[in-house]
Amino acid sequence: MAKKNRCVTAQVEFLEGFCVEVIETVQEMQQRSEALRSAGQTISLVPTMGFLHEGHLELMRVGKRHSDKLIISIFVNPVQFGPGEDLDQYPRDKEGDLKKARDVGVDIVFMPSVGEMYQEGYQTKVQVENLPQHLCGLSRPGHFDGVTTVVAKLFNITRPHMAVFGQKDYQQLAVISRMVMDLNMDIKILGVPTVREPDSLAMSSRNNYLGAEERKSALSLRKSMDLAGELFQGGEKKAKVIRDAVQSLILSHPFTAIDYIALCDPVTLDDVEVLGDKNLLALAVRVGKTRLIDNCLLQNDSD
Ligand code: AMP
Repeated sequence: MAKKNRCVTAQVEFLEGFCVEVIETVQEMQQRSEALRSAGQTISLVPTMGFLHEGHLELMRVGKRHSDKLIISIFVNPVQFGPGEDLDQYPRDKEGDLKKARDVGVDIVFMPSVGEMYQEGYQTKVQVENLPQHLCGLSRPGHFDGVTTVVAKLFNITRPHMAVFGQKDYQQLAVISRMVMDLNMDIKILGVPTVREPDSLAMSSRNNYLGAEERKSALSLRKSMDLAGELFQGGEKKAKVIRDAVQSLILSHPFTAIDYIALCDPVTLDDVEVLGDKNLLALAVRVGKTRLIDNCLLQNDSD
């Protein structure tokens, strides 16, 4: 029988008798990962901010399929929230998250406190230079520095062979992939397509903020992307025409305000005026007080 690992901080037991291993300190997590690596086990990491939904769980299933051990992190990272953003209201559900993690087959949940992640005197950040100067980076200055910094730390703490991210946060995936390449991190990055509610709203922990009427208006994001796809497939190549159509459709729904509608190159994220073979349509829309993002690729059917 396998020896119990000495590094385990807590085993959270549930009535049904299953348990999931929870680690709260950096040192214990590093020792645990090192032990797994020494035993020849491969590790995937799924970083999350918790309040888990089916989108997160899909990332975990992918991680599980690709490695021997699956670690997830649950950490609401204060450094990636700007002043006036929803750090304090961000939804949390520790018990529910641990149950979902257990059910999907997570091996270890890394759940540090803010003080554990950012010790006194902390003063280093990881910054990708250009990719954050687009899309969400423009309305959330410093956000991606916070993301790359915490993800680099999580990589150093959990030592994964691969890490799984959602394409819903397209720019985040692009920025992290760039960081991994630029800093020669020996970690494979996997991107998973956006998981949607049955009515096609992209799943997000922030959907929880939406009132019933706002929830209906939130569907305008997906509808406008479908419209953009139809226009593109119909031969429209002018970014302005597509952007205007997307904007009109969204603004015809109550409670909506546009943060950005971008048609850009999917690699550099530079805006395009004339669409090429492969283009990213990225949206950020406020519905009431809730800021939602979504994206899709506009590309020829044959690609
Ligand atoms: P978050 O907890 O919002 O930081 O998200 C953690 C990870 O889950 C990120 O890689 C997100 O891109 C991913 N994610 C969030 N929502 C979805 C979704 N609807 N479909 C796929 N991945 C998602």
